[in-house]
Amino acid sequence: MLRDKFGRRHNYLRLAVTDRCNLRCFYCMPEVGISYLNRKELLSYEEMLRIAEIFSSEGVNKIRITGGEPFVRSGMNDFLRNLIQVKGIDEVHVTTNGSLISQHIGFLEEIGIKSINLSLDTLDRERFAAITRRDKFPEVFKTLQDLINSSIETKVNMVVMKNKNFNDILPMLELGKDNPISVRFIEEMPFNGDPNQGNGEYLNLTQILDYITSEHSISKLKDSPSSTSLNYQVNGFEGSFGIIPAYTRTICGSCNRLRLTPQGDLRTCLYSQGKVSLRDTMRNGSSDEEITDLIRKALTGKARNGFIAESLRDSSNPAHESMATIGG
Ligand code: SAM
Ligand code: SF4
Repeated sequence: MLRDKFGRRHNYLRLAVTDRCNLRCFYCMPEVGISYLNRKELLSYEEMLRIAEIFSSEGVNKIRITGGEPFVRSGMNDFLRNLIQVKGIDEVHVTTNGSLISQHIGFLEEIGIKSINLSLDTLDRERFAAITRRDKFPEVFKTLQDLINSSIETKVNMVVMKNKNFNDILPMLELGKDNPISVRFIEEMPFNGDPNQGNGEYLNLTQILDYITSEHSISKLKDSPSSTSLNYQVNGFEGSFGIIPAYTRTICGSCNRLRLTPQGDLRTCLYSQGKVSLRDTMRNGSSDEEITDLIRKALTGKARNGFIAESLRDSSNPAHESMATIGG
């Protein structure tokens, strides 16, 4: 079992399968000048399956596939089918921008994907294009409708930004009026791939909640033990909503997550720079036991919370890398 020195049990791995993406959300990636990893630097699917088995034997039973955009990587559907069959992995979840998968929803349902988090920051096509720098709203909205009509549990992730989409909060909330989905409002983090650009559009949990309660009466829902969101329901709505304090970091105390970047670096916290290359260890011929030891050792160095993790970074390397290279 993977426990850190604060006694937190880690049963959840977030696996970023690529750093590439077909969108360019401005809070995640610069518009130009991105240098992608080459194929050899990425973990292969075989390596990822081996890693999943190793983590599973240490008590990890939940994996989220993220990126970059997972579905730009060819062979993703076959990989997901194989991952679901890894012994001990009870739940495979996916986070996607949804622009490439409308035609695959039936397949994802059939193989047993537990849930999909769909990233969507507005219901306005022009604002969508301004935020993502690509005109893909119709494709993403079609995916959302297909997901709603499927049996896959669906959450919508909206990064909330002051001058970009604050007024979209209420229309986005309406998605849950007659649909059994959860709309989650995420505080923007500084991971935009540009060390010179902070998150100037920053809004926090309280501001988001105050805005919602100025229009709706809501009830607090019970949060699951390691939930990153504080969850609520607008009274009378079928769906729910959550707020993820990703920047104010009030949720770190019960963190159960580990992250693997597309090149196979293990990160114990989103805000940490600590990098342990499981890829290099594997490629150097290490045994499963040696890799397990490395994971356990890395976990003992996990900071209590994201503020401490961030403060331990080199001052020359602030927390500004693109979220697509960490996996969100
Ligand atoms: N491409 C997929 C997608 O967009 O859903 C998966 C990868 S994306 C990096 C994972 C999540 O991180 C998305 O929900 C996205 O909105 C969120 N994200 C990206 N950059 C962020 C930032 N700077 N602050 C907060 N959330 C961010
Ligand atoms: Fe791509 Fe997701 Fe980053 Fe947007 S948030 S640029 S969709 S990886």
